[in-house]
Amino acid sequence: MVIIQKQRNFFDTQKTKDVAFRKNSLKRLQNEIISREDDIAAAIYKDFKKPKFETLAAETQFVLAELKTLIRKIDYWASPERKSATLMNWPSSDWIYKEPYGRILIIAPWNYPFQLAFAPLISAVAAGNTVVLKPSEVTTHTAAVISEIVSAVFEPEHVTVVEGGVDVSQKLLDQKWDYIFFTGSTRVGKIVYQSAAKHLTPVTLELGGKNPTIVDESAALNLAAKRIVWGKFLNAGQTCIATDYILVHKSVKEKLIEALKQNIIKCYGKNIEESQDYARTVNQKHLNGLKEMLEGQEIIFGGEFNNQDNYLAPTLVNEPNLDSKLMHGEIFGPILPIIAYETEADIAKHIMIYGKPLATYVFSKRKKFQEKILKTYSFGGGAINDTVIQITNKKLPFGGVGASGIGAYHGRMSFDLFSHHKAIIKKANWFDAPLRYPPYNLPMNIVKKIKHLF
Ligand code: NAD
Repeated sequence: MVIIQKQRNFFDTQKTKDVAFRKNSLKRLQNEIISREDDIAAAIYKDFKKPKFETLAAETQFVLAELKTLIRKIDYWASPERKSATLMNWPSSDWIYKEPYGRILIIAPWNYPFQLAFAPLISAVAAGNTVVLKPSEVTTHTAAVISEIVSAVFEPEHVTVVEGGVDVSQKLLDQKWDYIFFTGSTRVGKIVYQSAAKHLTPVTLELGGKNPTIVDESAALNLAAKRIVWGKFLNAGQTCIATDYILVHKSVKEKLIEALKQNIIKCYGKNIEESQDYARTVNQKHLNGLKEMLEGQEIIFGGEFNNQDNYLAPTLVNEPNLDSKLMHGEIFGPILPIIAYETEADIAKHIMIYGKPLATYVFSKRKKFQEKILKTYSFGGGAINDTVIQITNKKLPFGGVGASGIGAYHGRMSFDLFSHHKAIIKKANWFDAPLRYPPYNLPMNIVKKIKHLF
């Protein structure tokens, strides 16, 4: 691919190592995004009727907040970081130099099509890399705006967008990259990892998972229901860190279900299809997959759909069969299964069926129980008495573990992720301890004390 060679040549000019050049590029991008904020919202609305509020909050403003931090901190983050020296190498000064990897490939999904394309892109640029971004082919209107924004701000040899589907993605993956940042399904994550392995290319894989929300008998039920409903039906359930299924203590199950129903109506009204605040599933194929998941299930709320508009109502399912399609993989849509548990062993039995999830949430007033869940189970991140909000603090790492991903980003972690950390010791010449050189004459009882010099 010609563009990849052009990016290699451009990177070799050393221009991206100039922090002022990077900062300037980020500032131009900031202005472009601000001036196109309405176009971005319109494009995402055309793709799947995402409410404008959700686009502003979770897509453009999210990226603008990260951009603001990067622009403010880039000089500091890009400079060599001094570390305390050891006696072993005295006299020296010890450093970490941040070096851009080089050419980065970013592959993005469709569910937060703007945020998940630009959040890694801006950090890769801030760290001094060139970037090829492949947005999702599923959200075509957003992909077109992303492409326009990038070409208005960057020379293609610095940052470029390559639009297309699986074939284009695979062609890109056949090339040699210095780093690949992938957000998408666990299935495709494995394909990306295999392609990267051929060239020993480092990767970040931001994948999905089946995220449990546990509600115990002490939980503030109405507030729990309100927060679960918000996090689940935001973006019509197409959020990687949304609740996938609820495990609720059997003594409070009926009350929770009632509160969930009431809160859905409070948020979206009685005629949900008419609500301006409820998105659509992304396309017919995805809607059909969700409808199949509902076959044979006990639907206790919702379940209505409209094929013309890819609409599926917020839907509650009571006690799904664990062998059903609904409980096999990630749901990634507005269906919420509710399962009662009696003992903590029941919780373990359910959670252990699936790989390590991207998120886990606990609603409980019992601190001991909260801590026990946090310490017993491995998952990407989560919240106590809320859902989804862990993504909003850029000082917290965002990423999965095991089946839900490799690596984490946001804020400074993103800058560091796209930088190789070069360990450097600058040694003084005025003194040279003779002890390390052969012939080794130091008595062994002294050698055994060397650990104190590290
Ligand atoms: P996907 O894996 O189908 O596609 C993601 C990207 O990979 C797209 O750009 C697509 O063109 C490309 N792709 C698809 N098949 C490919 C193949 N065979 N070879 C090479 N490239 C291929 O994911 P999606 O449907 O766009 O997004 C939904 C998934 O993403 C869900 O599993 C969700 O949990 C996950 N997700 C994770 C995060 C996170 O931050 N961890 C965020 C959003 C979405």
